[in-house]
Amino acid sequence: MNVQTSPEAQAVERRRTFAIISHPDAGKTTLTEKLLLFGGAIQLAGAVKAKRGGAATRSDWMGIEKERGISVVTSVMTFEYGDHVFNLLDTPGHEDFSEDTYRTLTAVDAAVMVIDAAKGIEARTRKLFEVCRLRDIPIVTFVNKLDREARDPFDLLDEVEKTLALDTSPVTWPIGSGRSFAGTYDLRNRRVRLVDKDDAGFTVTGADDPRLLGLLPEHERDAFHEELSLAEAALEPFDLDAFRQGHLTPVFFGSALRNFGVRDLIDAMAAFAPPPRGQQAATRLVEPTEKRMTGFVFKIQANMDPNHRDRIAFMRVCSGRLTRGMKARLARTGKPMTLSAPQFFFAQDRSIAEEAFAGDVVGIPNHGTLRIGDTLTEGEDLVFRGVPSFAPEIMRRIKLTDPMKAKKLKEALQQMAEEGVVQVFQPVDGSGAIVGVVGALQLDVLKERLQAEYGLPIDFEPTRFSICRWISSDRAGELDKFVNAHTSSIALDLDREPVFMATTAFSLSYEQERWPDIRVSDVKDYQ
Ligand code: GDP
Repeated sequence: MNVQTSPEAQAVERRRTFAIISHPDAGKTTLTEKLLLFGGAIQLAGAVKAKRGGAATRSDWMGIEKERGISVVTSVMTFEYGDHVFNLLDTPGHEDFSEDTYRTLTAVDAAVMVIDAAKGIEARTRKLFEVCRLRDIPIVTFVNKLDREARDPFDLLDEVEKTLALDTSPVTWPIGSGRSFAGTYDLRNRRVRLVDKDDAGFTVTGADDPRLLGLLPEHERDAFHEELSLAEAALEPFDLDAFRQGHLTPVFFGSALRNFGVRDLIDAMAAFAPPPRGQQAATRLVEPTEKRMTGFVFKIQANMDPNHRDRIAFMRVCSGRLTRGMKARLARTGKPMTLSAPQFFFAQDRSIAEEAFAGDVVGIPNHGTLRIGDTLTEGEDLVFRGVPSFAPEIMRRIKLTDPMKAKKLKEALQQMAEEGVVQVFQPVDGSGAIVGVVGALQLDVLKERLQAEYGLPIDFEPTRFSICRWISSDRAGELDKFVNAHTSSIALDLDREPVFMATTAFSLSYEQERWPDIRVSDVKDYQ
């Protein structure tokens, strides 16, 4: 008997939870729209993100996002395609919100890397790829914008291999590019798909087939024939294990704008991308097919709908079955919590989740009970690790124009820190709170939200600090000694863990030399 037949195991097998990583403008939004169209999740492409003055959409809820035409928030979109349930976790495009993106990438099992065919690997793609590599997340590559002038396919594959140290395995090969872009050729089953008719196609005998070469203008045929012959000669069988271990990426060529190549991509995600994998907790590995529900919160979003002031915690279910109304245990406090209205999100809508399985992402409405990094279980005392916090690169003191509101500010900052909007540090010498961010736009978001949601007008003042590191020590008493010797440079984070704030890189390394038993870290896992 097949042991993999429990409802949980069947549900897990169908799920694909992924994100798209790319450099701004490579086509992530366009591709997202097209993927959602395939899933029937939206009727009209263009509904995901109304850029620069288009109609407002759900993901456009925040004033700042509308103003700047950038996607500030991370959200999730669930859609079904064929036998599979896809959970696409959206990540903010702007690098100032990279913390959000990094946290979101802890909740996916695979990623699609979108590359602009004319530009190749760009800075942000590389950065995000490195984050994926930390967890060996399998990557499927989509080379986009073949309908424009593109770089040579070999050149692009070579760049992926060299700059990312990632093996490539082309699945399709572009037939021409720019004006002469005719379609793609599947290298293994020799199937041709034509632009604008991607649901049909025909099989040819290989690179020599006149039906294939006839798709291109005469003067391009010889070069294409040579190129494709080389590609076919170099072709190896697709190594699924190497892909799933994060060492090799299958590569597709297409045009998101023309909705071409997207079907092959989504089919590949269904066929190759792994179902939800086990998640590491502090004490053990949690398998997705376990009976009892577990999950962790990687994102908090407030005020998604201005008509209902709510706060939604996005939780990735890691095992078992989450059902509406179930009682869960919040690991951080040990307290019970009833999941009375868990929600699923679609491109334009959300609905109550009656049940969810490993790999699914549910939104849990709450009034501040849940924070980023929280673990929920069905009773077990278990904590997932690995939703990181990054050392801020910009630190500011907050100047409150109305000092009577200091208490309100403190509460508001606590909330913002729990949501991951900014990090808040309380200096141990009793001076005013310091906020730390990785990207400057986070400060704008903080300022706008404090004003809009709490009626707190604030300004920022520079601090003398430019570097912040979490500190710890294995040697008894050493940390206290260090703290006492540096009181004006020590602050406590949200969990009351100490950080050392340095004015320059030089002063940090000077202290490190003098205090070899103090460990400094620029990343912290949430508890
Ligand atoms: P994002 O910043 O990565 O989300 O990129 P967008 O999806 O917003 O695309 C950036 C620009 O490139 C937009 O003007 C798109 O219309 C355009 N674009 C996206 N995909 C394609 C494509 O396949 N071909 C062409 N020619 N343009 C595209």
